[in-house]
Amino acid sequence: MAQTTPNHTQTVSGWAAHDPSGKITPYTFKRRENGINDVTIEILYCGICHTDIHHVKNDWGITMYPVVPGHEITGLITKVGSNVTKFKVGDRVGVGCLAASCLDCEFCKDEQENYCDQIQFTYNGIFWDGSITYGGYSKMLVADHRYVVHIPENLPMDATAPLLCAGITVFCPLKDNNMLESPGKKMGVIGLGGLGHVAVKFGKAFGHHVTVISTSPSKEKEAKERLGADDFIVSTNVKQMQAGKRSLDFILDTVSAKHSLGPYLELLKVKGTLVIVGAPDKPMDLPSFPLIFGKRVVKGSMTGSMKETQEMIDVCGKYNITCDIETVMPDEINDALDRLAKNDVKYRFVINIAGKSSSL
Ligand SMILES: [Zn+2]
Ligand SMILES: [Zn+2]
Repeated sequence: MAQTTPNHTQTVSGWAAHDPSGKITPYTFKRRENGINDVTIEILYCGICHTDIHHVKNDWGITMYPVVPGHEITGLITKVGSNVTKFKVGDRVGVGCLAASCLDCEFCKDEQENYCDQIQFTYNGIFWDGSITYGGYSKMLVADHRYVVHIPENLPMDATAPLLCAGITVFCPLKDNNMLESPGKKMGVIGLGGLGHVAVKFGKAFGHHVTVISTSPSKEKEAKERLGADDFIVSTNVKQMQAGKRSLDFILDTVSAKHSLGPYLELLKVKGTLVIVGAPDKPMDLPSFPLIFGKRVVKGSMTGSMKETQEMIDVCGKYNITCDIETVMPDEINDALDRLAKNDVKYRFVINIAGKSSSL
């Protein structure tokens, strides 16, 4: 595999990690010319996702250095290819995790390309031309238009960026489990971080009773007063967990640290569903009794298709849902990554790539 191919003629300024120390430094590299199916995007903002930490440090053993992270990208279209009709120069757009898929398998044909087994990601992936993909910690991106979405005019470009990963990750399980158009359900959200806080906002927007389940009692006030959660359970408090037994229809588990699913399954009603979207790198305990005695379901979900991503962004436009963010400049990326590793952020860092207004 090559880092570039001969059509990589455009010089781009970005920021990359070069080894498992994970330290980010300025990095100049090449992107491909704008092809007939491509759009070129001037990047305004890029969110910092937990996945970025794993990649820069090669935690999963799959990193191809140098790695330019970033898959929560917002920006403005500066060029469109001759086959592109959906976008024009000046459009406000977003790019998430997906850069390419086979376009031919059952999942690609059924608009579920996020489950294509040849899926390639926005960074640390291999594009169709054989080049390694570089992400949004950079000034400019060339993307195939099929993996780009429109951003509604009322949404700010900075606080919208993390929706392209965190937002779609929690939106899809809600959609899949009929939580969009059936208000009044009892919904639980485990973990109140980048994913969890958006899940609470969606849950409230869709008319559900939302319970946040967290190890940190200190988050109760914030969950209820700022995010609008109805209830709060401290997961280490046995009494509270007992009192919550068989109370929830649906739980979204956003925790990426290893934990046992048993106590959380007990919170579900009979036939309730728990969806895992956090990604602990060690197997989680899944005891059989809470499954069997409550006919409960445990399943996973990974990001969303492009069609679902556009739907999610449009829903966010309708309900004015964005992420709560802390904006950093590119020379503060290393500090931000260190703080994110300690969960010291409410709730997502977003890099101000272009140094321009968020209302563009
Ligand atoms: Zn992500
Ligand atoms: Zn496919």
